[in-house]
Amino acid sequence: MSIQEQQLHIVFLPYMAPGHMMPMMDIARAFATLGNTKATIITTPTNASRFATTTTRDTDNSGSRKITFLTISLPLKEVGLPEGCENLVSVSTRETTFKLIRAIDMLQPKLETILFDTRPDCIVSDYLYPWTVEVAASLGIPRLAFSGSSFFNNCVSYNLERYRVRPDRVDDPFTVPNLPDEVILTRSQLQDHGKTKTNFNELFERLKKAERGSFGVIMNSFYGLESNYVDYFRNGVGIKSWGIGPLFMLNRHTLEDKLERGDKSSIFDLDKCLHWLDSKTANSVLYICFGSLSRFTKAQLSEMASAFMDSGCYFIWVLGKVMKSHNNNNNNNNNNNNNDQESDDEEEQEEEYWLPDWFEGNNNDERGLVIKGWAPQLLILEHRAIGGFLTHCGWNSVLEGVCAGVPLITWPLFADQFYNEKLVTQVIKIGVEVGNMVWKTWAVDETEVVEKRKIMEAIKRVMGGGEEGEELRRKVKKFSGLAKKAVEQGGSSYNDFNDLLKAINMHKYDKIMLKE
Ligand code: UDP
Repeated sequence: MSIQEQQLHIVFLPYMAPGHMMPMMDIARAFATLGNTKATIITTPTNASRFATTTTRDTDNSGSRKITFLTISLPLKEVGLPEGCENLVSVSTRETTFKLIRAIDMLQPKLETILFDTRPDCIVSDYLYPWTVEVAASLGIPRLAFSGSSFFNNCVSYNLERYRVRPDRVDDPFTVPNLPDEVILTRSQLQDHGKTKTNFNELFERLKKAERGSFGVIMNSFYGLESNYVDYFRNGVGIKSWGIGPLFMLNRHTLEDKLERGDKSSIFDLDKCLHWLDSKTANSVLYICFGSLSRFTKAQLSEMASAFMDSGCYFIWVLGKVMKSHNNNNNNNNNNNNNDQESDDEEEQEEEYWLPDWFEGNNNDERGLVIKGWAPQLLILEHRAIGGFLTHCGWNSVLEGVCAGVPLITWPLFADQFYNEKLVTQVIKIGVEVGNMVWKTWAVDETEVVEKRKIMEAIKRVMGGGEEGEELRRKVKKFSGLAKKAVEQGGSSYNDFNDLLKAINMHKYDKIMLKE
C-alpha cells in the first residue's frame, strides 16, 4: 500500500455540551464517510450513547465500523455530582455547572495518556481544550481547533480585543472598529470578560493562543453566508481556517437521525405533532426554542406565554425549565462584576417545567404546542408550516434556521449569542430583534424582563403577513439555497473539506518521508 493510500486515523475530542458535541459528531461522520478515514471519538459513556445509533448507521460496505467511541469516565463523585451527569445540558445551577467543568478539566492527564497511546494522525479538538496543542506538537501531528461559532463572531471578538474597546456607559451604542460592515453593540451586550476582568480572561487568552498555535480552525459555516468575514478572518485576523458547514448538511440525515439528533425527542406523539403542523397553512407557525442551556425566570415565562397567546399566530414552544425556588442564592447572582466567578455554595437546586395556570388551562393544543424536553429541531424547522423561528441565536440554531429558509426573531442571552444576533439583524438582515439588551448567563429573579409588547411587536414584524416579513423570507431563502450549494460537489464547503483532508494527508506523508 502506498503512503497516500494508508488510511488516516483522526481522533475527535468534543466538549460535553450539545451545541459542541453535535457539530463535532457531524465532522467525525463526514471524515469517516466522505473522507474514508478512521474516526475515534473520545467521550464519556452517557455522551457516547446519545450518538451511538446514528454512528452505527454509518457503516462501510463490509459492515465494519469506521467511527468508534473510546469512552472515559468523569470523576463525578470527586466533584460531588450524581452519576450520569456528564453533559452541560444536565446541570442547571452555577454551582453544578462549575463542578462539571472542573470534572472535565480533571480528565486532561487521562486524555493525554490515551492520545499518546493511540498515536493518531490528527486531533480535532474542541477549542475549549487548549492543552491538545502541546500533545499534538509532541506527537508531531496536526491539531485542528473546532470553535463551533461563526466567522463573524470571531472577527467581532478579535477586533474588540485588538482595539481595546472598553465602553464605560451601559446603554450607549458603539460601532465595533474596522469590520467590513457597521456593527453596533452596547456595553451591556458584551460578554462579561469583555466588560471587565473576570476569572475567564486568562482562559480566553489561553484559548486564543492555542488557536494560533494550531494547524488551523474548522468552522461550521459557509462562504456564501458571511463571505466578508471569512476573508477578514483569514486575511485580517490571520488565522488558517476551513469553512465546511453547515456541518449537519455534510452528512446524510435519515428521519431517525433527525429524530435522535442530540437526544431522544421528548415528543411523545410525533405523529400528532406532525399532523398538527400539516393542518396549518404555510408560514403560519412560529417555532420557539432557546437551545439546550438557556433558563428564564417565571416572570419572563409569564410574559412570553401571554405574548405568544395574543400574537395571533400558531406556535410550537420548546419550554425550558425554571428553578423550583429562587430564595437561596440570589445574592451570588447579582449583576456585579464577578458574574463568572465560581461560588462555593453547595446547595443543590431542583428544576421544573413551569407555565402560568391560565396558560395551562386555556391552551388546549389549539393555538400552540408546548414541548417539555428535547425537540427534534431540524425536523420541525423544515416543515413548510414554520414561518418564523424565535431563537436565542446559538450558532447551530442560527444555521439551522438559515438552512430551513426561516426568518429569525432574535433573543440572545449569553455566550456569543449577541454577536450572532448582529450578524442576523445588521449584516445579512434575515431577522428582527426582540430587543434584549443584557448579556447574562443565569437568569435570576432580578433579571430584567423583556416585555410582552416588545415580544409581540417582533413576532408581528415576521409573522404578521407584511412586506417586511416577506422580504426577510426572500433573503433567508436565498441563503438557504447557498447553503445547499456549498456542500454539493464543487461548493465552497465541499472544496474546503477536501482541501483540509489533503492537508492532513500531506502532513502525514511529509512526516513519513522525513523519517525515511
Ligand atoms: N436542539 C434540539 N432540540 C432541543 C434544543 C436544542 O435539537 O430541544 C439542538 C439544536 O437543533 C441545535 C443545538 O441543540 O443544534 C443547540 O445548539 P445552539 O448552538 O443553537 O445553542 P446552545 O444549546 O449551544 O446554546
